[in-house]
Amino acid sequence: MQKGELLYEGKGKRLYKCEDENLLIAEFKDDLTANNAEKRSREEGKGALNAAISAQLFKLLEANGIKTHLVKRLDSTHQLVKKVSIIPIEVVVRNVATGSLTRRLGIADGTELPFVLVEFYLKNDDLGDPILNDEHCLLLNLVKDQETLDLLKEKGRKINKILKAFFANRKLDLIDFKVEFGIDANGEILLSDEISPDSCRFWDMDTRQKLDKDIFRLEDGSVKDAYEEVLKRINEERV
Ligand code: UDP
Repeated sequence: MQKGELLYEGKGKRLYKCEDENLLIAEFKDDLTANNAEKRSREEGKGALNAAISAQLFKLLEANGIKTHLVKRLDSTHQLVKKVSIIPIEVVVRNVATGSLTRRLGIADGTELPFVLVEFYLKNDDLGDPILNDEHCLLLNLVKDQETLDLLKEKGRKINKILKAFFANRKLDLIDFKVEFGIDANGEILLSDEISPDSCRFWDMDTRQKLDKDIFRLEDGSVKDAYEEVLKRINEERV
């Protein structure tokens, strides 16, 4: 499959056309951004690590009944994916309070939540990705109806259940994560974008060491070493 015209360039990926009009090629970049791209850097090999991690997790989710846009990996940084229209909602799922949740609501960092919290944010950098309730989503026509929002929440919770158990077997606590969904030519909702340490938080179960983009956000060590460790643990069941 040859890369065609560049269709879109985001903070972490480029999307290209290819010979098949129903498919696209996603290229994972080495760029790192945080705080709505106020903080920027680059780490050689980060794109390949995220591409590998995301492909493994998407395959795991497919095997557990979550439909995704991934068709196959092409090389270390490129994936063939189904063309979808992205729903402009970032679906954030949380098991433990940290990050913006603690800042916004004053909950102590590291507090185990009494239930899995699902939140929606508007995918709009100019507005700083504001938090949305269901009515905001409907008001902005981000989805066609309440049932679609309920489906996004249900999918978010199901993904959480699968990934939380998977990482617990590898001595990693899944703290929170962000996912995006797209609608394909048949109107089907597919998990899209990526799931990687750029979009998840993982804490080592024993040491509480952070193994995700918070290392970059907080300037607290090597991002690449941490992402390599996550990939290593994905490939080795420890318990
Ligand atoms: N997240 C993301 N992209 C964003 C915002 C958040 O992937 O634009 C992920 C983030 O990595 C974390 C979860 O969503 O796993 C919750 O992030 P939070 O709202 O705490 O954001 P932050 O503290 O980064 O502002």
